[in-house]
Amino acid sequence: MKYKRILLKLSGEALMGKSKTNSLDPEVLEQYSMEIKAVHELGVELAIVIGGGNIFRGGQAEALGIDRVQGDYMGMLATVINAMALQSALERHGMYTRLMAGIKMEQVCEPFIRRRAIRHLEKGRIVIFGAGIGNPYFTTDSTASLRAIEIQADVVLKGTRVDGVYTKDPEKFPDATRYAKLSFQEAYEKNLNIMDMTAFTLCMENKLPIIVFDMNKSGNLKRITQGDEAGTLIS
Ligand code: UDP
Repeated sequence: MKYKRILLKLSGEALMGKSKTNSLDPEVLEQYSMEIKAVHELGVELAIVIGGGNIFRGGQAEALGIDRVQGDYMGMLATVINAMALQSALERHGMYTRLMAGIKMEQVCEPFIRRRAIRHLEKGRIVIFGAGIGNPYFTTDSTASLRAIEIQADVVLKGTRVDGVYTKDPEKFPDATRYAKLSFQEAYEKNLNIMDMTAFTLCMENKLPIIVFDMNKSGNLKRITQGDEAGTLIS
């Protein structure tokens, strides 16, 4: 096994699947659960951060006449809804999980306590981090980087709908080519937008590698965890 403890970042938007109206697609939850289960069965310790973009993003607030900070908290609460849905899906497949949140919500999840999170992982529980860091002006990518550093994860696996980082947007330019590997410096100089700057520099300064990969391709998550080359490795 290449990685023993991983932090998986999933976007909220991906949970919508093909649906244009519903924020959660049961097929996506099912598929993600199976991908995660395959990795968990390898004995890998797994922590997950999930976004909230399918429900609410702080950036949308202003257009709605909502204060930005208020909007960010709404976004954080959106991640808790997704985290609860994912938790339920994972448990249905027999995995033990704990949901820890950056905002206190005693009835639905535990508060984030670093030592406790590590203990859960050591016991083979999948830990889902909800409500982001608990502070406005951050993103779930920053949450993923920060929590990964705190729990001493070996890598951040950023699941997206494209299979890595490209020279330009592959959905717009057919001649775009994928990078197999990049250094943090290169990614920064080329302005490749792998994560927002806060999230990116946290990883860079703490020498925490990031792998951007296609979460929708079956078996990909397991292959990457085992050390197979897929997606783009930034280190
Ligand atoms: N957010 C925040 N602080 C955090 C994490 C998230 O304020 O620590 C808010 C922010 O407004 C963000 C929203 O929660 O827009 C949803 O998260 P994000 O946009 O990162 O989700 P994704 O795009 O990955 O679905």
